[in-house]
Amino acid sequence: MEQEARERLLRPLEREWQDGAQDRVVQGGLERLVERLGQPFPEVRTLLRGYRELDPQERRARLSRALELLKGSDPPSKLLVLDDPLPQKWKRLSALQLRSTRDLLHYYPRRYEDRRTLPGIRGLIEGQKATLAGRVLHKSLVHTPQKGIPLVQVRLVDRYGTPFNAVWFHQPWILKQIKEGSQLILSGRVELRRGPHLIVEYFEEAEAEGASLSIGRIVPVYPSKEGLSQHYIRRAVAELLEQGKIPDPLEAYREAEGLPELDWSLRQAHFPQSEAALTRALERLKFDEYLLLELKVLLQSGGSGLLGRAFPIQEAWIQEFLAHLPFPLTKAQERALQELVADMRSARQMGRLLQGDVGSGKTVLAAAALYFAARSGAQGALMAPTEILARQHYENLLRWLFPLGIRIDLLTGALSPGERKRALERLASGETQVAVGTHALIQEGVEFRDLGLAIIDEEHRFGVLQRRALFKGRPDVLVMSATPIPRSLALTLYGDLEVSILDELPPGRKPVRTKVLPKALRRQAYRFAEQQIAAGHQVFVVAPQIEETEASELAAARQLADELAQLLPKARIGLLHGRMSSEDKEAAMEGFRQGAFDLLVSTTVIEVGVDTPKATLMIVENAERFGLAQLHQLRGRVGRGELEGYCILIAGEASRKTLERLRVVEESNDGFAIAQKDLELRGPGELRGIRQSGLPDLKLGDLASDTELIERCRRLAQRLLEEDPRLEAPQHALLKRELQARAEAIGFREVI
Ligand code: ADP
Ligand code: MG
Repeated sequence: MEQEARERLLRPLEREWQDGAQDRVVQGGLERLVERLGQPFPEVRTLLRGYRELDPQERRARLSRALELLKGSDPPSKLLVLDDPLPQKWKRLSALQLRSTRDLLHYYPRRYEDRRTLPGIRGLIEGQKATLAGRVLHKSLVHTPQKGIPLVQVRLVDRYGTPFNAVWFHQPWILKQIKEGSQLILSGRVELRRGPHLIVEYFEEAEAEGASLSIGRIVPVYPSKEGLSQHYIRRAVAELLEQGKIPDPLEAYREAEGLPELDWSLRQAHFPQSEAALTRALERLKFDEYLLLELKVLLQSGGSGLLGRAFPIQEAWIQEFLAHLPFPLTKAQERALQELVADMRSARQMGRLLQGDVGSGKTVLAAAALYFAARSGAQGALMAPTEILARQHYENLLRWLFPLGIRIDLLTGALSPGERKRALERLASGETQVAVGTHALIQEGVEFRDLGLAIIDEEHRFGVLQRRALFKGRPDVLVMSATPIPRSLALTLYGDLEVSILDELPPGRKPVRTKVLPKALRRQAYRFAEQQIAAGHQVFVVAPQIEETEASELAAARQLADELAQLLPKARIGLLHGRMSSEDKEAAMEGFRQGAFDLLVSTTVIEVGVDTPKATLMIVENAERFGLAQLHQLRGRVGRGELEGYCILIAGEASRKTLERLRVVEESNDGFAIAQKDLELRGPGELRGIRQSGLPDLKLGDLASDTELIERCRRLAQRLLEEDPRLEAPQHALLKRELQARAEAIGFREVI
């Protein structure tokens, strides 16, 4: 029925098109015919309403869209095979890495130009940005009278017959690209003094036939390279879209998720009918992008819902643990504890990320989980990135768990061969219930009798591979991180983990008082440092690594230390820099912790978790070179004891923008809010700790703002994999193929 109506409508429309849209093909006018036959196609009817009154160019534009609509909604005659290579005639697209049908379909325009109704030069005002069409009458290369700047000047006539000039400064080569008599589309700024002309910013030649791809519509502008014209790319895309329909891998889920068809969305993404349609289409494509990303993450981590161990945690154990703590838990800790306990009790393997600012009390929760594992008869392991941190954890666990009768062991690289051998025996026999250590925990030869729970502290120090290495035997896993990562990022970077957040500090901890100082006032910062040291406190000075070479980096660090020695003659100054071995770094840090220095100059990353209760002041040189989240993390190292903490951010470059950015840290004490702001201001690549883990390379998605959409995709991905853990069902074949084909582009660039 609809098919028949389409046929009856298509033929006269095509004839009208061939006749140059003069409305003389159909007796009584085209509009009346369309009103009569076009019932099933309301969009076509709307388009062609008032057809006779339109000017010929507008008629052509509408006609072409009407034809497209009618043809575009053809029955699914032929389905495109996305893996097919592009035809020989479009081979030049390989310069843009476009080789398959899929590549080209997902080659989205960089921007769009609204050329639905191109104005004439007459209606424009001085200074306005506009896109005009015109036929070239005449071209010339001249030089400006005063400065002799080369100027290409082209005389054109717009479609209303009004002549105007188009000019290009400093681009004499343009002259060759322009042919007299050709039809151009030009965008630029209008100037009316000295006769109407356009300062051209962008131009292209309109196609000879029909002009349907570059005039009378919203026109795509693709990222391109020298020698590949917009016209060429548009033609290729349009021709491809004519070949058939694009199959939809999400057909079965489309309705429930409220998504438009993929075929429609890709057509709209290239040749949008309206802004609203474009927005909707891009949402759909973005959805696919995130869905594939989440699927990939879940599949990579072995899928969700893997069987793990169900720990029979009793209420009494929880009460015992809490009763032995010298403080009550914060609300946030209580919530996270509930989440942990639920995960551990369930038969599914736990994969949880515990995030919280430095000092928010993550270690207590680790201790609780380790206690529950041990009481259940399993072993637990806690892995830290450095010796100092491992030892600090060991001491805390001894304090909290030893009174509860748990046997705890420390395993680090510092053990003598004999000690190590005995420690390994205790692990293998199960005598050790909780093992704390460094990488030494995951080295060859380390065998647990029954590892049920693995906890990793400060996760970003470990690569993904190491994280997995510890997972051998499939224990429940808890990852603790002090890097506040906005939820959207956490969902993609740690897509395999559920997230618990400690967004509250234990009572009594005052926020670190923070002040941004322009470099000119730098001495004030060191006066203040002098006072702190005189009062028996300690000071951190952190400077960003600027120098590229080893020698110059060393020199810069030493120079800063020397300068500070002059400014603060009484202070004992220690130095920590990136060229030191990790043992030397740890020794310097330990020396500072034990009070051997008053001030520690550091040009490298200091461990965030190390307790230095006497440190009260952190001065950051050239603070603008750090990310905001990183600055927040840095200052978390002071004021950890009873004493009030201070942080001075010295802005090496005091532009308003820099100061404004740094003020975010001055004014907020919420690590997550700061990280979110940082993500918005600088983009995801700059957040600390994320570089190493690799970031998804999204074409459309915007990690700073898509949290809700990502969560939706994640839920669907989880559901899909629960039904069909390896995407083997026939209804998921297309999706699986997309995942395989696009995973490279969408997925993680793992840099380990
Ligand atoms: P994080 O590892 O998150 O940086 P820690 O676990 O090291 O933080 O805790 C920081 C300090 O706060 C430790 O000295 C810890 O004993 C203490 N602490 C943790 N939780 C509480 C609480 N609920 N009330 C008081 N002090 C707490
Ligand atoms: Mg910690």
